[in-house]
Amino acid sequence: MSTQHAPTHTSTDRARSLALYLHIPFCTAKCGYCDFNSYEGLPGHLVADYTPALVHEMELWAPAARDLRVDTVFFGGGTPSLTSLDDMSAITAAIRANYDVSPDVEWSLEANPTELTREHLDGLRALGVNRLSMGVQSLQPEELTLLERLHSPERVIEAVRDARAAGFDNLNLDLIFGIMGQPIEKWQDTLERVLELRPEHLSCYALTVEPGTALHYQVAKGQIEEPDPDVAADQYEWTRPRLAGAGYQQYEISNWAQPGRECRHNLVYWHAEPYLGLGAGAHSFFLGRRMANVDAPNRYVEAVNESWEERRATGHGELRQIAGGESPDEATTRADTMILGLRLMQGVDIAEFTERFGVSPDAAFGPALAKHEGYGLIERVDGRIRLTERGLLLSNELFVDLLPDDE
Ligand code: SF4
Repeated sequence: MSTQHAPTHTSTDRARSLALYLHIPFCTAKCGYCDFNSYEGLPGHLVADYTPALVHEMELWAPAARDLRVDTVFFGGGTPSLTSLDDMSAITAAIRANYDVSPDVEWSLEANPTELTREHLDGLRALGVNRLSMGVQSLQPEELTLLERLHSPERVIEAVRDARAAGFDNLNLDLIFGIMGQPIEKWQDTLERVLELRPEHLSCYALTVEPGTALHYQVAKGQIEEPDPDVAADQYEWTRPRLAGAGYQQYEISNWAQPGRECRHNLVYWHAEPYLGLGAGAHSFFLGRRMANVDAPNRYVEAVNESWEERRATGHGELRQIAGGESPDEATTRADTMILGLRLMQGVDIAEFTERFGVSPDAAFGPALAKHEGYGLIERVDGRIRLTERGLLLSNELFVDLLPDDE
């Protein structure tokens, strides 16, 4: 099994570093498989009010982040590429005004090929966005229809060409495999054609049918067959050596990159390090607390604006946009660190874990680790615990056993 080591930071770097996530919840149409906090057809006034609310939320959090340096910014959604350049300009200016942004910040934006124009790409690049993550999913027209994606394969190729012409030299393409009825040849064809585009980064996810989605309803009604996990496993097992042969290093269960092009922002999540999420439904792990904002964009806008007005009038006040929060106990933090770390191909450094928590992984998770080592899902290499090839396919069975008893 090939392994690679993600970029490392010193503990001092990490202590001062902040990852900023901004959620843009708007989409042109809701895709059938999507369970993200995203909405189609919201009224224009709400879209117009959203940017000022995001700026207000930035201002509310800024004092708490005063001593931190923003090393990564990630615009996720939803469809952040739908945000107008004027609004993007206001948001990026507010980030720079309220936070200490590192000169070598990784600034990612999720984009949908459907509406992406050359003019918009030029504008984003000029505003400092330097990494584009495009939702491609498939290059087979019938699969795009089944997933209810609005773009064509040709549109993807044009959008990638335009992104290159606009100066984007750090491009991720998101793909979905394991689609119901998808023969492996179709997946192979999609991947081969995507490789011709030479993206710096690839995310390949197996399709999951999430409760509450239109796809779930269609499967439950028997209108569409369920995805076959054995087919998805075969496709995944074909993908790994193919991408290795094409010069991509797998660094996480679903993520591959050319050397040095790992997503620094997502590595913060997998290293269980702090991040601040802004926007409707955004999650944070900040100041030792896990928090989630209210999902509904209209309630988010109202809550942020009320908090901002109160803060302006009185100098203090609660953050009403936060729907829930908790300070995770030590057992939960250990489990999060272990589960997220095991998603990475390099796995978890035993000595680093022990230093961070004052207890070794074996003392913290002994029976579960021994059991899954026995099943061949994990192995120990060079002072690390990591997933085996078999473990990559069955990781959820291990992760469930690592959760604290009360979760
Ligand atoms: S474009 Fe992305 S976020 Fe929007 S509905 Fe489709 S999958 Fe969900």
